[in-house]
Amino acid sequence: MRNIKIDTTSIKYRCLRCRRVFTAKKLSRERQLKCPECGFPVVEKARRDMAIHIKAR
Ligand SMILES: [Zn+2]
Repeated sequence: MRNIKIDTTSIKYRCLRCRRVFTAKKLSRERQLKCPECGFPVVEKARRDMAIHIKAR
């Protein structure tokens, strides 16, 4: 069995005000979840834009 490390610092967040995307690593400096750019306290988790291609064949 292999342990799969989940790198939480690679989780991305998006500010709901200025729409900037930043990583949790940047956020960890702050106690609060807020945008490092504009300070807006509402951010959403951005999914990794890994394109999943499903071939329709
Ligand atoms: Zn912002």
